[in-house]
Amino acid sequence: MSLIVQKFGGSSVATPEKILAAARKAIRAKLEGHQVVMVVSAMGDTTDDLIDLANRITDKPPAREMDMLLSTGEQQSCALMAMAITSLGHKAVSLTGAQIGVKTDATFRKARIKSIETARLKKVLDEGNIVIAAGFQGIDDDFNITTLGRGGSDTTAVALAAVLRADACEIYTDVDGIYTTDPRVIPEARRVSRISYDEMLELASLGAGVMHSRSIEFGKKFDTPIHVRSSFTDIPGTMIVAEPERPDMPVSGAAITKDEALITVQAVPDKPGTSLEIFARIAARNISVDMIVQNVGESGKADLSFTVPRNELDTALEAVRDAAKLVGAGTVSANDSVAKVSVVGLGMARQTGVAEKMFRALAAAGINIGMITTSEIKISVLVPRDQSQKALNVVHTAFELDKPPAKPIEAWKPKAHGTDAAAVVARLQGLNMEDLTIDDVSLDASQARVTISGVPDSPGIAAKVFEQVAGAGIFVDMIVQSYPTTESLATLSFTVPQDQLDHSVTVAKKIASDLSCRGVTSSPKIAKLSVSGVGLRTHTGVAIRMFRALSEAGINLDLINTSEVRVNVIVDGNQGEKGMKQLQAAFADVLR
Ligand code: ADP
Ligand code: ASP
Ligand code: MG
Repeated sequence: MSLIVQKFGGSSVATPEKILAAARKAIRAKLEGHQVVMVVSAMGDTTDDLIDLANRITDKPPAREMDMLLSTGEQQSCALMAMAITSLGHKAVSLTGAQIGVKTDATFRKARIKSIETARLKKVLDEGNIVIAAGFQGIDDDFNITTLGRGGSDTTAVALAAVLRADACEIYTDVDGIYTTDPRVIPEARRVSRISYDEMLELASLGAGVMHSRSIEFGKKFDTPIHVRSSFTDIPGTMIVAEPERPDMPVSGAAITKDEALITVQAVPDKPGTSLEIFARIAARNISVDMIVQNVGESGKADLSFTVPRNELDTALEAVRDAAKLVGAGTVSANDSVAKVSVVGLGMARQTGVAEKMFRALAAAGINIGMITTSEIKISVLVPRDQSQKALNVVHTAFELDKPPAKPIEAWKPKAHGTDAAAVVARLQGLNMEDLTIDDVSLDASQARVTISGVPDSPGIAAKVFEQVAGAGIFVDMIVQSYPTTESLATLSFTVPQDQLDHSVTVAKKIASDLSCRGVTSSPKIAKLSVSGVGLRTHTGVAIRMFRALSEAGINLDLINTSEVRVNVIVDGNQGEKGMKQLQAAFADVLR
């Protein structure tokens, strides 16, 4: 018999009427012949209200007690949902995370799922019930109640669909699918018929609040298609699957994060182990770091900038100041008035001129770019927060994200689970479900680096640089621009194929003199070492593990970039092979 998981978010169960409407959807699926597992969030703003309540008692509520409190929101709505279904004449049983056997680690408020028991779920389903599971919660080994992080009911739903090998995982919400950007922010955003796991993972972690990013990690790892659709209509929504909607398009979505703050450490001694010292201290406080930019140092010193969640800025600063003292770095400063705007697309890995287009759109709108990082499938820039909305708008328009596809999109067809299913289930039982998995450690020794230093801090410079570079037919891979320091000068580095280095340097020198930059340096042979897998950013330890392995071998890092699916570091070309061996050894236990 086929099995469907249906998840209803907070706004979809906000009132008794909405609970009854959701109950009817589940009953309809049951009557169509499916077994149905519902996953429910807390009603409306219940979770926010509970947090406010706790904060009125104390400004430092113990994390364990917060989870005890927050889990009650979902417990309420799942009981009410069971009552609704029963009142409509069908059988239903509600179960909390603990009653199902959702086992997690003991990281309160950000717990990760280790395993899910299926015996009780299956028994209750086989007795003809609709099962209503409380989202967002589990228990640790000591039976403490844990929660999975804000928005975590999505993760409960996809995880249940994965362990039960459900035929469908439907996420019912207050929008009718995934849009090219938040439709509440940009009404012209277009609903997409399908989006790939990798793109959705990036978008979710770059600010698209529509899905909990860890739910997409489950989808990708266990090959579970996710259907995001409206609670209030019956029209099909968006499928999150392996294949992108339009592989030919460089960009498939854009997102904005306003709750990040920038930390800059100046004059960091440019020698192995310094980044490790700093990031290990931040990771020890469980803070995730994003947009790391370390630009090649002049006179043995480098500037290191990165962003952290705004609400964790103070804690992160404490950690960084300690580390900076220890490694003999200079001033540590913070900037709290920035926002990050990103574009994502699997197609950009194969096209030139994508970054240029983004920078040009921002320049035309007079928006200054503070910092730039790129990875294979995303470009992020840091801009002044008060201009970020406009930045998102112009970028969304520049990539024509509001325009419908020229050709009709072929409908996505489900693959039969076939023999695959057994292998996936075996893998599920062997591991902690949310453990890190690394697919590949690789070395690319084909590139060279160009660095323009002393770049003036004014709109349009990055656009001019990459206009000319692209115009000269040079294929740029990685772009890194540091945040301007107190002298208001930035450093812009990019990597190019080795045989295009001479040409690139000529172009860069011309630009540097036209734009009164300080100078151009280059390295004829660099090595790009990459670790790829699933959910690398939520596992804050991955970058640290890389830095540690390389530092132990005395290898210095020139450039760093991170994404959900890949962490890249650039090192000296002669150190590539050695670095590769170090990384293979460091990740041997999680390499699958
Ligand atoms: P739920 O309570 O159902 O979990 P959320 O509020 O968590 O719902 O997520 C739905 C909201 O996500 C939408 O109302 C929308 O404003 C927002 N959102 C952000 N980015 C996107 C996007 N790219 N596509 C669709 N919705 C988005
Ligand atoms: N109720 C929780 C929250 O508001 C979990 C969820 O809705 O997914 O974050
Ligand atoms: Mg949500």
